[in-house]
Formats: sequence, structure tokens, C-alpha cells
Amino acid sequence: MTPAPVLRVCALYPELMNIYADRGNIAVLRARCEWRGLGFELSASSIGDKVDPAAHDLFYLGGGQDRDQVAVAHDMVATKRASLHQAADRGAMVLAVCGGYQLLGHSYQLGAEELPGIGLVDLRTVREEGPRLIGNCAIEADLGGGSRVIAGFENHGGRTYLGTAASPLGRVLTGHGNNGSDGSEGVRARNVIGTYLHGPLLPKNVWLADRLIELALDLELEPLDDAMEEAAHRSARRAAGL
Ligand code: GLN
Repeated sequence: MTPAPVLRVCALYPELMNIYADRGNIAVLRARCEWRGLGFELSASSIGDKVDPAAHDLFYLGGGQDRDQVAVAHDMVATKRASLHQAADRGAMVLAVCGGYQLLGHSYQLGAEELPGIGLVDLRTVREEGPRLIGNCAIEADLGGGSRVIAGFENHGGRTYLGTAASPLGRVLTGHGNNGSDGSEGVRARNVIGTYLHGPLLPKNVWLADRLIELALDLELEPLDDAMEEAAHRSARRAAGL
């Protein structure tokens, strides 16, 4: 009998980048694998740790406060940039939420300082006049198989602008998205996904969790009985005004 596939997840800076119940996202990935008899392995990599680009199928980077982002930004560039590029080049998934998403780009402006990003996707995050972009948000995204709704909550001071080499994860239906002006939300390039939506993200959108697992392991998942999960999704959509 061939052994069941195993989803190998690496949580990046889990003790620093976790302000939006980001552990809930990992718990959903674990549950959705285990309920189907797939294996699940979780490891972590934090300040000063190297990352083996071949050892993980999915890298997760959560939300962070400005203060924690400073340390993380510098460490990612110094110890993980090359490995994360290699991992993405071989098709590994990278899911980054909010503060983590900002650090995937070229730079993140924080007051007078410009923090370096790892340049995994073509985008920059700047500050502009105006309030923080806060509230429930819903977007439409196509990760294969047609457009679906991702619903969540956003809370960011930074405004993100995609470069010409990047495509948004989705189109804003309600809420602010990347910058409150161009109708784009998040980024997707190969299997690298960044988004401002949290709340947390995956418990409210289990279809997205399943799609990430499929892309990471290159397989098709059987459906589960998702009555409760669908109710959570509907409630997040309603909160966002859909
Ligand atoms: N500190 C970043 C900002 O305000 C991101 C915060 C977050 O992860 N919500 O733009």
C-alpha cells in the first residue's frame, strides 16, 4: 500500500507573526488533512533559523504588529530569502496574511523607515494620508475551478500596490483590499499567495484551505461534510455585506 501523502507545513515566526489568531489557520489545514487520512507535519522557523527549501510543502506567515515586523523583515532577508525563493521556484505554497503579506514584496514603509521585503512577489507597501483600512471584506478569487468568495476582516495601515509582474488574488466585492483605491486584493504568483484577509482566514473559507492543500500536494481532495464550515462562511459573507 502506498503511504498517504503528508502536508509538511512550516510556520514562519509563529510567536511573532500571529496577531489574528493565525494558529487557527494552521489548525484548519491540519484538520482538513487528518479528516481525509492525509498526514500533517508542522515545524517552525523563527529569528535566526535557516529554512530547508525542499523540506516543506506550505510556508505560512501570519499577521504582525509594526514592531514585530521590523525584526522579522530584517531576519527574513538575512536568513530565509534565498530558501523561500528556491521553495517557491519548485512550486511550494506560500500563504502570507496581512503583516506577513506586506513582507513578501520589495519593501514596507514604516514611518520614515523603509523595511526590506524578500521580493518574492512584485509589490510595494507604502503609507498614505488617511485612516487605517479596517472592516469586513469580501473578494472574488479564482484558484482554479471558477470564481469563489473569500470573506474575512482586514486591518492595515499600509497600502499595497502591485507591480506589473504581479496579479491580485482577487477583486474586492466589499471592503478596501490592497489600497482602498484600485479594487485589487492580495497577490498570487505561482503558488505564492498573500492577502490582507484574516479573522482568521481559513476557518471562514475552508474551500480555500482545501485548494491550498491540493495545490501544495498536487492532488484532488474528496469533499467533506462541511455544514458547520459553510455556516461560518455564510456568516463571514453576511458580515461583509454580501
Ligand atoms: N502593521 C501592518 C499595517 O498596519 C500590518 C498589520 C496587520 O498585520 N494587521 O499595515
